[in-house]
Amino acid sequence: MELRVLSLYPEQMNIYADRGNILFLRRRCEWRQIGFEWRGAGPGESVDPAEHDLFYIGGGQDRDQRVVAADMVETKRLALAAAVEDGAALLAVCGGYQLLGESYQLGAETLPGLGLADLRTVREEGPRLIGNVAIETELGGEKRLLAGFENHGGRTYLGSGARPLGRVVPGHGHGNNGDDGFEGVWEKNVVGTYLHGPLLPKNAWLADHLIELALERRCGERPRLEPLPDELERAAHASARAAAGV
Ligand code: GLN
Repeated sequence: MELRVLSLYPEQMNIYADRGNILFLRRRCEWRQIGFEWRGAGPGESVDPAEHDLFYIGGGQDRDQRVVAADMVETKRLALAAAVEDGAALLAVCGGYQLLGESYQLGAETLPGLGLADLRTVREEGPRLIGNVAIETELGGEKRLLAGFENHGGRTYLGSGARPLGRVVPGHGHGNNGDDGFEGVWEKNVVGTYLHGPLLPKNAWLADHLIELALERRCGERPRLEPLPDELERAAHASARAAAGV
């Protein structure tokens, strides 16, 4: 078994320790003797939808998104849509999450999105939405808590067809837009979220869930991942929850 991960624009879309998410996936595979292959795809590079089973788009400032948005739509959108349709998993964080949707509107300028999720993002008046955050999600079949850190100026609005990844624990974060209580998006095997942290080391179960989805696509059946000791991971989760006041 081998987990094949492709990061999109690892040079440009990589703030708040996005590399930590990838490193964490690598370690959780290696500790279980599962192979791990990582590649990056930058500007102008095409993507083979069959070659990777987990796609990752990290966070990025508005200026980074300006650099990649049109290129992403032009050179990668069709391949990503085909891979997702075929069961590949995709995790997009913050700036990457915003680019999953239809568009990101910054004043008079509108950046195109991948259109893989029914949502749009608008840079409105008002303060940046910053702070530790905890959300309740049913991703993976049971009610669980994700804890992380958010910092975004864009406000994301889900379309009527979109399912949020979760709900902000009331009073413990802002979520998509600081208003409707939703956080992130979850459609098929696509997860988008504003939670950084990095997210996965603080929420080890989510890393394992993504690994399982990706391996399932490759092997045809959902593997049973060996449990790991996870003492440090539990402590990291508890600390992120405490920071969010939950
Ligand atoms: N540029 C986006 C915003 O500020 C996302 C920032 C980020 O990835 N932290 O809304």
